[in-house]
Amino acid sequence: MPEAPKNSYPSDYSLDEMNKKKLEFIENVTSNPDEVQKKVLSEILLRNAHVEYLQRNGLNGHTDRESFKKTMPVITYEDIQADINRIANGDTSPILCSKPISEFLTSSGTSGGERKLMPTIEEELERRSLLYSLLMPVMSQFIPGLDKGKGMYFLFIKSEAKTPGGLVARPVLTSYYKSCHFKERPYDPYTNYTSPNETILCPDSYQSMYSQLLCGLCQNKEVLRVGAVFASGFIRAIRFLEKHWPLVVKDIRTGTIDSQITDPSVRDAVMKILKPNPKLAGFIENECRKDCWQGIITRLWPNTKYVDVIVTGTMSQYIPILDYYSNGLPLVCTMYASSECYFGVNLNPLCKPSEVSYTLVPTMAYFEFLPVHRNNGVANSISMPKSLNEKERQELVDLVDVKLGQEYELVVTTYAGLYRYRVGDVLRVAGFKNKAPQFNFICRKNVVLSIDSDKTDEVELQNAVKNAVNHLVPFDAAVSEYTSYADTTTVPGHYVLYWELSLNGTTPIPPSVFEDCCLTIEESLNSVYRQGRVCDKSIGPLEIKIVEPGTFDKLMDYAISLGASINQYKTPRCVKFAPIIELLNSRVVSNYFSPKCPKWVAGHKQWSSNNNKATTRIEEMNGKAQTV
Ligand code: AMP
Repeated sequence: MPEAPKNSYPSDYSLDEMNKKKLEFIENVTSNPDEVQKKVLSEILLRNAHVEYLQRNGLNGHTDRESFKKTMPVITYEDIQADINRIANGDTSPILCSKPISEFLTSSGTSGGERKLMPTIEEELERRSLLYSLLMPVMSQFIPGLDKGKGMYFLFIKSEAKTPGGLVARPVLTSYYKSCHFKERPYDPYTNYTSPNETILCPDSYQSMYSQLLCGLCQNKEVLRVGAVFASGFIRAIRFLEKHWPLVVKDIRTGTIDSQITDPSVRDAVMKILKPNPKLAGFIENECRKDCWQGIITRLWPNTKYVDVIVTGTMSQYIPILDYYSNGLPLVCTMYASSECYFGVNLNPLCKPSEVSYTLVPTMAYFEFLPVHRNNGVANSISMPKSLNEKERQELVDLVDVKLGQEYELVVTTYAGLYRYRVGDVLRVAGFKNKAPQFNFICRKNVVLSIDSDKTDEVELQNAVKNAVNHLVPFDAAVSEYTSYADTTTVPGHYVLYWELSLNGTTPIPPSVFEDCCLTIEESLNSVYRQGRVCDKSIGPLEIKIVEPGTFDKLMDYAISLGASINQYKTPRCVKFAPIIELLNSRVVSNYFSPKCPKWVAGHKQWSSNNNKATTRIEEMNGKAQTV
């Protein structure tokens, strides 16, 4: 297997040499991906030969692909939930992995309304670092000189909890930023950010955002690239600036930090950078005062070459607003990753967002692909992922056997103890780099609504609506049809539900009842949604819009005029197409918002509700109320 290049090199290595090594690595692993994959699988199976899960399934120490495929089931989270719970409750025996589970990564994908817990091991940090280290060498092939300045990236940590057994559970990026791989990274011109570590690691999201913007603005000329992980996060930063720029300007003018920034380590770190600069303050004030914020990124950070944010998948809804703020700078999606495993990189980063494809790095995990057969474009019916039958299991193909243009669901086997695990993402083969396929990200299976990292599926939405309509029963009213829409024109974005009512009673329904419906829906949605509402403030209050009777018939007429079949027509539970949203909005008779935030606590519900003992063991470490 080609040896992974070191993540840091001796100081006498030139940047060019380092870049060359990284690019050679990509060339190598994409030239013989099948061989690499075979070795990755046998390495994973060899070292885990005695773990309970593999023994239970009868793999019997085999490490070859054929035995693995014949013996091991293709699974979803629910299939290993009992094993995960044992680990979470403190069982340290080798259940899934021979190496100790170092922590759980809390995925934005949920199960039973709670974040999924992905086990991880210490060495996975190395693999994540390796993937990160490939990004800038790739980028610098297209834009030279990026080592001559800084990156302004808005990076944040999120709250973390402890499982009853004492393992930390937190999002993968929080884990990474808190690790020595990030905090103690040796100097590297490519990880030279305007945000000092202390501002990124500050658990209070207001202070973190404020101080990162302040540092980014006072070094504005040095900034060559700007970004965040997802587009939604970057837009939040710009909107934050729209609201708070007078304070930031004052700080730059005087060289002092606003008193709301109370974290001493943040204050110290910012003071190392901030110097009184009335000229710059005046310039920023002048730009921010203007009514029009078009091109604000290029105005405030004039040397910026590109915006580094993920705009593939549901994040594509933010492309127009990013184009507006950046005056059309390239939007660059560099990588594709998850809590389960980091997957791949975009080798053509300046391509259009609609053409982005990711090359899976074959050393990261063992990848398999389940062909996806769409039912002729008919809207998805409500269904839970079911277990695969024997025939479907045989359809899984290896990395090198995928076919151009075909869509697949990604299945991974990881070093941390997931075996043939369905990630839930649908990818389409867009081309090849040497012998390694490159994939467009198509969608997350079943997800209908998403604003930030929340992923709400049709079943969750259906249950939430079912719970809410109970409020209408005393009025002899019911919801005859509904659909939904992720409205990102407001900041933060919010969920909108369009309801058509069937009214039998005569008592008018007071607005407070619909507001209760809004809140009940929010209370019923998964923990990632509620965290976005309560803690991150990245999602705004849910809205119900009541539409005139007959609106959904009009919707059907419209769909049929576009070619849908009458027999197969089903009301889509989520709409995205602008003319349909216009149609719905034109028939709204009243609208209502959720009057307050739903409940949310860090960690899993059952960790706090089982009994008092469990409650006292829960440790909410960073879950302070956050007020961006
Ligand atoms: P999480 O496990 O919470 O980190 O979320 C991982 C999921 O985010 C992936 O499985 C994808 O659904 C989504 N995701 C990650 N990277 C990308 C990307 N570059 N483009 C689109 N979706 C992505």
